[in-house]
Amino acid sequence: MSNVRVRFCPSPTGNPHVGMIRTALFNWAYARHTGGTFVFRIEDTDIARDSQQSYVDLLDALRWLGLDWDEGPEIGGPHGPYRQSERMDIYKEIADKLLASGHAYHCYCSQEELEERREAARAASKTPGYDGACRKLSDDQVAAYKAQDRRPVVRFRMPDTDFTWTDLVRGDVTFAAEHVPDYVIVRATGEPLYTLVNPVDDVLMEITHVLRGEDLLSSTPRQLALYDALNAIGVAKGERPLYGHLPYVMGEGNKKLSKRDPESSLLMYREEGYLPEGLLNYLALLGWAFGNDVEFFSKEEMATVFDVARVNANPARFDLKKCTSINGDWIRTLSPADLVTRLTPYLIKEGVLSAEPASDQMAVLLRAIPLIQERMETLRQGVGMLGFLFADQPGSASFEIDPIEAEKVLTPDAQPVLLAARDALVSISEWTTQNIEEALRVALVEGMELKPKVAFGPVRVAVTGRRVSPPLFESLEILGQERSLARITSAIK
Ligand code: GLU
Ligand code: ZN
Repeated sequence: MSNVRVRFCPSPTGNPHVGMIRTALFNWAYARHTGGTFVFRIEDTDIARDSQQSYVDLLDALRWLGLDWDEGPEIGGPHGPYRQSERMDIYKEIADKLLASGHAYHCYCSQEELEERREAARAASKTPGYDGACRKLSDDQVAAYKAQDRRPVVRFRMPDTDFTWTDLVRGDVTFAAEHVPDYVIVRATGEPLYTLVNPVDDVLMEITHVLRGEDLLSSTPRQLALYDALNAIGVAKGERPLYGHLPYVMGEGNKKLSKRDPESSLLMYREEGYLPEGLLNYLALLGWAFGNDVEFFSKEEMATVFDVARVNANPARFDLKKCTSINGDWIRTLSPADLVTRLTPYLIKEGVLSAEPASDQMAVLLRAIPLIQERMETLRQGVGMLGFLFADQPGSASFEIDPIEAEKVLTPDAQPVLLAARDALVSISEWTTQNIEEALRVALVEGMELKPKVAFGPVRVAVTGRRVSPPLFESLEILGQERSLARITSAIK
């Protein structure tokens, strides 16, 4: 065990998104690489925005991805509770201490007053941050505000010095004092804000490395200042945590990938049937490289070599095609039995298999898997490719030919082809791939002098319902003679 302690601390609002998962992955990998501790903390102090559903989804997401945490919700740990909503007393006590020591103060300014003064500052070409008006209020002023029934926020007093830290990713970063004004840490309602609870918990949970998205860069000087204050009042002991800010992820049109972009939603990946292995593999490449051009690796392999120092500060580009293709690579590494296990829930969900598939259906699935394993990049694509095998069976959807394919391929010209195919297939006594292929070739390619595409296209559409399907002769073998013939007959009609 090393003393490295990292944290993943999302707010449970909305659906988990890939930016968040990348942060979780990099923290996890760093903890595993160093033999340190991966802390999972839920930042749910914003009653208006947080939801229990989102909390459940977050836990479920990390479990699905296999990003196991060492301390956190449901497993506990020495620094619990790990949901901030259960730590409110702690924050209250610390805010009071910061007030008592003068590191924070009550600010009575109303929103309108603040806005007015910001406007004035802008007009005078000054930096429009909080102007420190309430830093030194006289007792009379405070009494006057109270008489007006004003309820104060708690503001943290930023030292009037610049803040510099050596970012693990970006090197030296400096924020000038004038760009970091005093900031609110507790609302007038008494609700503590992210600005307080996040660094406080980093201290109390003894976090050594803060790896998070670049969008949080500007909160770092504030957190460093708060850290120093917590040190001064004896809450923190020791070194400031080290910070590393992971690069932005850019989406289409070189705009920052937004939570609203469909490819940013974790749910989308689960619904389409990306493997956790594939998704994590791809997300690892957003700002980091394995080295030696290796682009295919497991999260465990990533952990063996992961170093924050090799995270690239430049924005990373999100490329869904590449993500999908890596996922396809992962699908090809699975054993057929494993792929069957992973695919089955999707087949059930799409109504291809019943909730409790019969064992002979599972046997068919296992036989068919090798036919599509090379061709699919997501599990859902597999559903489309295999649906025809299970259609018209108890508990499954009925067989349907894609109407677009039907119109294109099942034309009047196809009629004689299908008739000849049926005659050829009827007389096969041993229903094997090889016999099927031979019978169809003899009848259609040689007998009718058709090009293979023209010959087999109608048969394929008649039997599988689509033009893109697993290899035809194998498909026919697995489907069986009777069902194959029935479908060809019905297509002829
Ligand atoms: N709860 C914060 C967020 O989700 C955490 C930010 C941080 O890692 O410090 O944005
Ligand atoms: Zn004020």
